[in-house]
Amino acid sequence: MFKHLKAVSGDPLLALIMAHKQDTNPKKIDLGVGVYKDDNGHTPILNTVKKAEAILLEQEDSKSYLGIYGATEFEAIIKDLILGEGNPLIHSGRIRSTQTPGGTGALKVAADFISANLKGARLWVSDPTWGNHKSIFDSAGVEVKDYPYYDPATNGLRFDDMMATLEAEVQEGDVLLLHACCHNPTGIDLQADHWKVLTDFVNNRNLLPLVDAAYQGFGDGLDEDLAGLRYMAANVQDMLIANSFSKNFGIYRERCGGLSVIAASAPEADAAFSIIGQAIRANYSMPPAHGAAVVYTIMSSPELKAEWEQEVAAMRDRINGLREKLVAKLAASGVSKDFSFIKDQRGMFSYSGLTLEQVRQLRSEYAIYIADTGRMSVAGVSDNNIDYLCESIAKVVG
Ligand code: PMP
Repeated sequence: MFKHLKAVSGDPLLALIMAHKQDTNPKKIDLGVGVYKDDNGHTPILNTVKKAEAILLEQEDSKSYLGIYGATEFEAIIKDLILGEGNPLIHSGRIRSTQTPGGTGALKVAADFISANLKGARLWVSDPTWGNHKSIFDSAGVEVKDYPYYDPATNGLRFDDMMATLEAEVQEGDVLLLHACCHNPTGIDLQADHWKVLTDFVNNRNLLPLVDAAYQGFGDGLDEDLAGLRYMAANVQDMLIANSFSKNFGIYRERCGGLSVIAASAPEADAAFSIIGQAIRANYSMPPAHGAAVVYTIMSSPELKAEWEQEVAAMRDRINGLREKLVAKLAASGVSKDFSFIKDQRGMFSYSGLTLEQVRQLRSEYAIYIADTGRMSVAGVSDNNIDYLCESIAKVVG
């Protein structure tokens, strides 16, 4: 049965992580993997997560099935976090939210929902985007097209080109995927005026926006990061939002996220939500419980919530501080290239502008592991390795 199968090459990023693991150079640095790390290169469990787990250990009294949407009380938590407490949309009944296994699970359910119910809709993604966007929608049978986004010449955003391509090529009913904040892989975000232009565009051309919010809290703040998403949600009729709790609660392996649908009316939202339920049932039946129970326990306790907000701020401040330091130290190293754009980028990642040749040289000669695209995970930088990193970059860039 399987004789004809040829092994596929795995994700090059996983190969990079493995190569770093096997490297015996004591100075080696891993800037590939997209998880938060502290100054010791460790991905910590948040204090509030530990506290919530202690409470759950004490109070949890059943491991019975949850239901396809997960814990019912979790719906309100998702809406409050992504829209902000008291957002009028919440009381309108026009938004329904379900727990999902991570942001990936949310995107997969959205892809199945779109594929089965919005016939002919194509998905528009930024060039570049998170690699799994394409895989998930491809596997659901949705055609994926891309719009210009990153400009290697300026290390910035090609917004005019983005709009020109979309203006010329979108068809009514297409789905427009936008990163809410902390764009993966570039770190370059849409600004408030871009969100306004895109909102008008979505309305004029009758598109469905799908906003992916995987890094809420890692850019400028929990509310600030979703200001564009919230503006759009307030001004369009229909929208899908896939969000992840992996990064901002540091519960990556617990697989916790949410999928929200906004529709023209409460009955329309309920109908769409019931069909989303069908897609969930046919996929994984029900989401895992633990991550959502942790998030719920934190968010429903004013003390834990306040402490969690501080923990998110500490992760954000560390990354933004590292961006400032990288720019200053690279400039001080005498490197010929201007790297000041790194401090304007947001989130876990930075498109460094390093060429494939430079990335390969950093890997082979300096044991510094950066993805072939030049994407660096800023969280992998620390006070212990930043000097070596900047000196090495200066040597390969010249
Ligand atoms: N969207 C983007 C843009 C991401 O970067 C990621 C995680 N790397 C996800 C979604 C999925 O997150 P999760 O781990 O919660 O599935």
